[in-house]
Amino acid sequence: MLSYLNGPQSDPFYYIYSSKGWLTDYDPVREFPFWINIEPTNYCQLSCLFCSRQLSKRPLGQMDFSLFQQIVDQVSKWEGSALRFTGWGEPLMHPQIGAMVEAAKKNGLKLKLYTNGLALNEELMDIFIEAGLDDLQFSMQGLNQRQYLFNRVGSDYNKLKKNIFMAAKRRGGRARPFLSLLTSVLETELSQVNPVEFTDYWLKTVDKVAVDLTNLKFVAQSQRVKPYLNQQSKALNRGKCIDIFLALEVKYDGSIQFCGQDSQALHEHTIGSFPNISLYQAWHSSKINAQRDLVGRGEGHDKLKVCQNCYHNTDKYELFKKSW
Ligand code: SF4
Repeated sequence: MLSYLNGPQSDPFYYIYSSKGWLTDYDPVREFPFWINIEPTNYCQLSCLFCSRQLSKRPLGQMDFSLFQQIVDQVSKWEGSALRFTGWGEPLMHPQIGAMVEAAKKNGLKLKLYTNGLALNEELMDIFIEAGLDDLQFSMQGLNQRQYLFNRVGSDYNKLKKNIFMAAKRRGGRARPFLSLLTSVLETELSQVNPVEFTDYWLKTVDKVAVDLTNLKFVAQSQRVKPYLNQQSKALNRGKCIDIFLALEVKYDGSIQFCGQDSQALHEHTIGSFPNISLYQAWHSSKINAQRDLVGRGEGHDKLKVCQNCYHNTDKYELFKKSW
């Protein structure tokens, strides 16, 4: 369920979501991905129930600014392609995140930043406003404080709310950053709280609210998750993968992955690494093409570890269908 305060056209990425290449005409492969997802760091303050980071054995680290600048230089040659700060960590925990946003915007890139919102402060928000960050997306879980704290272990619901209100107040009447809020819920949670009430409440402050279903399958091996697996009873769809035609992911250490879902960044999911391979070369490599044949054109999900538990259970982009 996706709701906008001022309609879908107000979304800074409407030009992507409403293009045919987004969800219908994605094969043959685009010249360059719509999105380059960047993991500034894999540090995070939280240990959320649903998050695959809990299974990761990767060392903790953060992206060098020089590597980030190389990515910006490459992506800025492709009009319409955009960056997303995301990955298996909290982007705001990178000490140079403000400078990274400024560098991307100076190079004319469209930019979206995902955050759990806890480390946002007035100083950072002012940098984002001044730089012209296009979309600041707060990630939540559940539909009220109790559900949030159950899923976002160790978090502070009141602090998050306070920071979202602060962000909206400082931005004031400016158009950017567009403020988005994404939550996901287990089916049991959905039956306890009306998502429409949640959406109506938050659309008084932010520009967009998305409510999606939580996928616990990625973390099914985690002991603490096992008791809750039955709360996700609905059969999840495992259709052909579209994402593998839309985006590439760069981890903090420069490794390029065909998908962002793997918190372990396993070798078998890695296409190459900066500076040995460019984003363009990775996008057209024989390795990613073989993976597209498996999960994008065929149904070989069981042959790739990360894809075995991946289900496309969102219908939120239905909203854009009329423009395709
Ligand atoms: S895990 Fe596999 S199927 Fe899922 S989005 Fe990534 S590449 Fe596609």
